[in-house]
Amino acid sequence: MTIDKRWTTIRHSFNPDFIIGLNAFIERCKNYLDSHGKCSCPCKHCGNTVFLKPKHIKDHIIKNGFEPSYTIWRHHGELPQPPEVHNTMDPLRNLLHDIQLEEVPNFEEEGPNDDETMNDMTATGLEDLIDSTQTELYPGSKLSLLEFLAKLTHIKVLNEWTITSFDQLLELLIQSHHLNNTIPKSFYETKKWMRKIGLGYQAIHACKNDYCLFYKEYQDLENCPICNESRWKDERIMGKKVPNKVLRYFPITPRLKRLYSSRYTAKDMTWHATGQCNEEGKMRHPVDGRAWKEIDKRYLDFTREHRNVRLGLAADGFNPFGNMNNPYNMWPVILTTYNTPSWICMKESSLMSTLLISGPKSPGKDVDVYLRPLVDELKILWSEGVVTHDSVTNTYFQMKSNAYLDHKRLSCP
Ligand SMILES: [Zn+2]
Ligand SMILES: [Zn+2]
Repeated sequence: MTIDKRWTTIRHSFNPDFIIGLNAFIERCKNYLDSHGKCSCPCKHCGNTVFLKPKHIKDHIIKNGFEPSYTIWRHHGELPQPPEVHNTMDPLRNLLHDIQLEEVPNFEEEGPNDDETMNDMTATGLEDLIDSTQTELYPGSKLSLLEFLAKLTHIKVLNEWTITSFDQLLELLIQSHHLNNTIPKSFYETKKWMRKIGLGYQAIHACKNDYCLFYKEYQDLENCPICNESRWKDERIMGKKVPNKVLRYFPITPRLKRLYSSRYTAKDMTWHATGQCNEEGKMRHPVDGRAWKEIDKRYLDFTREHRNVRLGLAADGFNPFGNMNNPYNMWPVILTTYNTPSWICMKESSLMSTLLISGPKSPGKDVDVYLRPLVDELKILWSEGVVTHDSVTNTYFQMKSNAYLDHKRLSCP
């Protein structure tokens, strides 16, 4: 069903079509209120960055007009139209095809992330997955094998099922419904299977006292070159030793490439080139800010390619169990791409976690040590960039990126 949006372009707020359209929109808003009875205001001034009560949204739209670039009402219940490609309506299948194109011909080096712990996605693994989008769960079933597993895993996570309960349900379903015998038999197997879509991480050992990472020039050391503490919990153990501290690093290059390889996300990545706020003195997205304009002026080559990525970086410590007496802290370092409109780039699903430092003691000011892999990767992205497949135009381009740092907590080089 298409929604009539023509009223949003009418300039005269006394026009009867405008009033009818606006009233219908306000009624629509009432279905998408948060717990305070508010939803985001799409007026030109707020651009969906402010939450208001419906009656105030109405006043805003009358006074300021409707934001013209807000054409898909994502904040007000409208889902973006899935692109019609590959003659199939199965989004999982489209996604896999997109990922398949991500691999660039003659691609020499994957940046700083050729560690064995990450990226077990191989071409054959991906083909298996694509096959499973065509495999019936049982003869005549509506869901494919992959859809079934994706949905079941999602329900598990949403409801915090235990692994045992997942395994037991799966076993029962297999027995009672004569499910396809290629189906994974347990959560562990399912996870291994689904991981082929994911991007993995790098595990980097760290000094117990946060002085260094066992990375690059230090990667083979057994003791910290600064405080001489052992890298291991118990160095006398024969066989596989357990490291004192581990940094989990999620390389950003493959993640950025993926934003372009999926046509669900690629089309929003050039929004910043057209989405500026044209009202003098107003700012509702970093694109309207002085820092952005300064970069545009200073780095003309970078600016010319609209597909280059503008990253925002923020970090803070938090206590995952909400109990401040609990000494266990997490230090997430979060990136978001400011290429997309505010209503996308600030969404939880657009925030990329780049590193997770876990341990009983927060790294405090020493967080800098842990940022090294990220800084190294950002340097490559800024100076050389990486060849990236753009699924909107079906072309390859050299993607570069810069980062705006949130200096509150970081003292980054
Ligand atoms: Zn408003
Ligand atoms: Zn040390």
